[in-house]
Order: sequence, then C-alpha cells, then structure tokens
Amino acid sequence: MKPQNFDLLLDSCDTLMLDMDGTLLDLAYDNYMWLEHIPTVYAQKNDLSEAAAKEKLYGIMKKVQGELIWYSLDHWSEVLDLDVASLHLDEQHRIGYLPGAKGFLEAVAAHDINVLMVTNSHQHTLDIKAAVTGITDYFDGIYTSHELGYAKEDQPFWHALQDQVDFDCAKTVFIDDNAMVLQSARDYGVGNLLHITHPDTGRPAKQNDSFTGIAGVSDLVV
Ligand SMILES: [Mg+2]
Repeated sequence: MKPQNFDLLLDSCDTLMLDMDGTLLDLAYDNYMWLEHIPTVYAQKNDLSEAAAKEKLYGIMKKVQGELIWYSLDHWSEVLDLDVASLHLDEQHRIGYLPGAKGFLEAVAAHDINVLMVTNSHQHTLDIKAAVTGITDYFDGIYTSHELGYAKEDQPFWHALQDQVDFDCAKTVFIDDNAMVLQSARDYGVGNLLHITHPDTGRPAKQNDSFTGIAGVSDLVV
C-alpha cells in the first residue's frame, strides 16, 4: 500500500486499532522469552536437558495456542511453577519497537482519528513494555483481551469491544501480525485490515495471501 493511500484511508476513517506485539513492538522479545529463555530456566529447575524442556513446553503451549490462557502469565506461572512475570522483568532490556514503529505512531497522531491499542497481551507484560518504551502514551484507549474476557481470535472479543467503544466497522482500520486475529476481525465485519508480515526482526518475513500485507508499519509513513 502506498503511504499516500494510507493517509487518505486514515482521513476517511474515525478509528485506528493497533495490535502491540509484532505490529509495533519487536516480536523477537516474546519469541526469545517463550521459545528460549523460559524453556532454559525450566530445564535448569527440573534437571532436564534444554531439548527435553523445549519439547515438553512447546507441546503444552501448542495445545492452547490462540486461547486466552495462552496469553496469561499467571496461567504459565502456575503450570510451569515459575515466576514468569519476574523472568520477563529480568529480560526487559530486550524489549523494543519494530523499525520505524515509533515514527509511525508520531505520524498517526497528526490525524484526527481515535487510536486504540487492541492487544492479547497480559497486563503484566503490557505494564513492563509500557515502562520500557512509553508506547501507551500514543493511544486514546487501551483494550486487552484479558480485560474483555476473550482472545482477539474469538468473536465474543469483538462484541465486547463494540460494547465499550461503539466503533463503526466501515470506518475502522485494524493492523495486526496474526492472521487468525485478522480473520476474526474480518468475520466480525471490520472493514480495513492490514497484515504485518515481518513481526520479528530476528526471523524471516511470513507470507499470507488472505490479507493486504506490509512488512511493517514504517511502510505506511513517508
Ligand atoms: Mg501481535
């Protein structure tokens, strides 16, 4: 999408909904935490090899992927018997914006549009990320799936959000890196969807032909 067209799109809409992890903040942090650091700590604590710990944890996590509890630090602290929030704090220096994402948020502020964060992030990680990056300062409203009671992948999430925000689907732009979430937004009727295809700077870009794709939000800014 050409930047000029995005400006026109924003001017024709009244609500911009943005995901946080993988859309504005580098998913490299989350992938490091869940795929490397937490399995390593779990292996040490339970006297397992790293490979055995990874196999076990990846299996447990995959079973609930996309469900609300998958995103819950409290859930994983209990299941793994680890203080997962504190592990996140230890590694907070790894948290950062995706390239150009901060500039994008500053550019969006020039538009007369309601900018909402719509995230599956648990409140603990949101608080840590907000403290490190200041990201919440750029939003007119912040809505988390844990607060609303459903993950973004589920239709009731959008109904609960509608009850709180009263947004017009036809005049809403939503940007997310998760195709399942975008499909859920499409099923609900959200009119303008953009898919971030390069959410983790440490990994190659993904491909998905179901939605209009951009490598990152920086592509939308001149
Ligand atoms: Mg995301």
